[in-house]
Amino acid sequence: MRFDTVIIGGGLAGMACGIRLAEAGQRCAIVSQGQSAIHFSSGSFDLLGRLPDGTPVTDPVAGIAALAESAPAHPYSVIGAERCARHAETAAELLRSAGIRVAGDSRRNHFRITPMGKAKRTWLTIDGYLTTDDADRLPFKTVCIVNVEGFLDFYPEFIAEEFRKRGVECRFGSFNHPDLEQIRRNPSEMRSANIARVFDRDADLEALAAELHRCSEGCDALILPALIGINRNDSLELLRARVGCPIHLLPTLPPSIPGIRAQQALQHRFRALGGEYFLGDSVLSAETRGSRVERIYTANHGNIPFEAAHFVLATGSFFSKGLLATPDRIVEPVFGADTEFVPSRSEWYTLRFFDRQAYQAFGVKTDPALRVIKEGKALDNLYCAGAGLAGFHPVQEECGAGVSLLSALHVAETILKIEN
Ligand SMILES: Cc1cc2nc3c(=O)[nH]c(=O)nc-3n(C[C@H](O)[C@H](O)[C@H](O)COP(=O)(O)OP(=O)(O)OC[C@H]3O[C@@H](n4cnc5c(N)ncnc54)[C@H](O)[C@@H]3O)c2cc1C
Repeated sequence: MRFDTVIIGGGLAGMACGIRLAEAGQRCAIVSQGQSAIHFSSGSFDLLGRLPDGTPVTDPVAGIAALAESAPAHPYSVIGAERCARHAETAAELLRSAGIRVAGDSRRNHFRITPMGKAKRTWLTIDGYLTTDDADRLPFKTVCIVNVEGFLDFYPEFIAEEFRKRGVECRFGSFNHPDLEQIRRNPSEMRSANIARVFDRDADLEALAAELHRCSEGCDALILPALIGINRNDSLELLRARVGCPIHLLPTLPPSIPGIRAQQALQHRFRALGGEYFLGDSVLSAETRGSRVERIYTANHGNIPFEAAHFVLATGSFFSKGLLATPDRIVEPVFGADTEFVPSRSEWYTLRFFDRQAYQAFGVKTDPALRVIKEGKALDNLYCAGAGLAGFHPVQEECGAGVSLLSALHVAETILKIEN
């Protein structure tokens, strides 16, 4: 099989790169062994929430420019601040063109509300999820927090405790319906995706609307766990129209409905542009000649190779097995790329879970064009994008999705420049 570009990994980075290349007319394939981190998404995409020293960032584009000095190895510094600002605009458009309705501004972070009711800085948030411009204020005075009876991955009491700190009066409501009984028989089935499938049915959504209408009496707004619209786009509009009161969604513990929806939308967009998506296949090995990758081999295709002019490594970090930790080093398993890590294992992590963990910045070494380095030399046609890159702390710097999107667009731009 021959393509212009083969992308290994179908997470946010692989998808964004594939969509951009396919939009420009390239024949692209994405090979992805499993689901990705986006399935755990909060419904928001972070660009840069904090500088490496912990300073909060109000203007992500300005923050990225400041990284050049404080964190020269950060992927944003490698890409360059001006390019990052441009890619951020393209990324937001790319998400929207896939049908993911996001709002936000790369020059001004807003706050999303977490499943525990706390405010966290972010860049883009999917329509319907609760956000605020001021971490100390919420856009309502009296709210009803409604949960589905028996759903344990959503915590109304914790949320109310946080909301009350901001002067909001909180009430609670709950919803039950005979159609939920079948999944309730086994508590492990009471998960967001299963409940959302029930609410995809018109009759169940109408029943939920009726109950929400009842709960809305005397409230400025309703808070609902993200349990609607796994396979349809109109659920929130329908509820809002029926209830006549603002409804805000909050993310739940995974699996994440906004994440699953976003993944589906990106996949659909890639395929609609002519891209070929091989889900459930793993890239096992590669053949290189000199400094060029010629072909890769996958588990499902055996000795039938994938050949291409360009290859993109978007296999993610430890979470997706794009990086593996052995007792003494960090390994990139497909190409054996050079990796950045500190040699002494005792320095890889601290036992204080919320501290800055060194291992999070471990990753694949690249040159300024994000070409993968192997045995000290850049490979001509293999690029790395996304969470597998070295040099950044996605959790502490609140920049996970941004690095994946911007690096993917940077790689796509480099490939397109070479081809044109
Ligand atoms: C649990 C979790 C929640 C997060 N939530 C958020 C959030 O809410 N907001 C935010 O901004 N950031 C979040 N992040 C940060 C996240 O890292 C990025 O947002 C981004 O989704 C990472 O995308 P990626 O494509 O770089 O990597 P991944 O999403 O990890 O995707 C890598 C893909 O490569 C595939 N793969 C791996 N090896 C192979 C192989 N050999 N062959 C074929 N395929 C392979 C994997 O199956 C996977 O599909 C979260 C991260 C985690 C881990």
